[in-house]
Amino acid sequence: MAVLIYTKAHDPAEWADEFRKLAPDLDIRLHPNTGNPNEIEAAVVAKPPHGLLKSFPNLKLIHAFGAGVDAILADPTLPRHVPLTRVIDDRLTVAMTEYVLLHVLRFHRQVDAMAANQRNKSWKWLPPVDAAERVIGIMGMGTLGVAAAQKLSQFGFQLVSWSRSLKAVDGVTSFHGEEHLDSFLRLCNVLICLLPLTPQTRGIISRRTLSLLPRGAYIINAARGGHVVEADLLHALDSEWLSGATLDVFDEEPLRDNHPFWTHPKVTVTPHNAADSIAAQVAPQIVDNIRRMQQGQPLLRQVDYSRGY
Ligand code: NAP
Repeated sequence: MAVLIYTKAHDPAEWADEFRKLAPDLDIRLHPNTGNPNEIEAAVVAKPPHGLLKSFPNLKLIHAFGAGVDAILADPTLPRHVPLTRVIDDRLTVAMTEYVLLHVLRFHRQVDAMAANQRNKSWKWLPPVDAAERVIGIMGMGTLGVAAAQKLSQFGFQLVSWSRSLKAVDGVTSFHGEEHLDSFLRLCNVLICLLPLTPQTRGIISRRTLSLLPRGAYIINAARGGHVVEADLLHALDSEWLSGATLDVFDEEPLRDNHPFWTHPKVTVTPHNAADSIAAQVAPQIVDNIRRMQQGQPLLRQVDYSRGY
């Protein structure tokens, strides 16, 4: 059976080696050396060009390289009768929790202010704030959001969350649905976005929603750039409404040289590396789903086309 690999975000040859090691019988083909398109039955893809997946008439499985599938779903010609599956990986989840924890603690312990003081050789005592006085809000309580919330609650922060459905996670007050979004936002001293990018969540961090946060709130976006209306975020930072933002993901990646985020004193930019898929770690679960497809067994980690995640 032939499996197509398409990615520009990873080293395709490294992934092909992993797949061949795990499943020597699979005929792994690296785009653009696709061969006869009729022979491709599975495709493992990251940000595939529109029209690519439609060109394989016998495709039976589309597997994402990562946890997010928005770039695959954005293809208007996507063959939606073909099941789409994604990655859920313990190491990736731990990496995201580390990222969230790092930047929440940076904000909480006023690290940026102290670094600025150090540059001025200024020995300045900053009044401490108790973790219990900070409310950390997580938008998106799936695999990544729940893991981050559980870790943060161990530090004594107050945790609130927002998702589509109501959640019962120890130590976390759950808000759900559009009708409770504003009540959730009014509480958040730190707002962390771990939502999938869908038509409902695109642009959710906007002038309106930012204005509902308490003054001095901090933003962490490790989900997708499309969640943030960049001009609105810049306005909220420049008008002293927000104290800062850590951004891992952007509308346009890589971030262009003259983008104001690069040099903004209140913005920390990271290059979409909060939590990566690593070939040796993730290839086994992809091969497992290809086997399930071959054997007609239920697929794991399947995306619901109607929800968009
Ligand atoms: P997931 O398990 O699918 O969880 C998604 C969560 O978002 C769920 O709690 C869901 O609510 C909620 N949600 C979806 N649509 C919503 C809406 N309209 N209103 C309110 N809540 C909504 O996803 P995940 O695995 O945690 O990953 C989340 C995202 O992180 C991915 O989609 C990807 O874009 C991003 N990501 C980024 C990196 C990076 O390196 N920066 C790495 C991995 C993933 P329900 O629980 O009620 O369904």
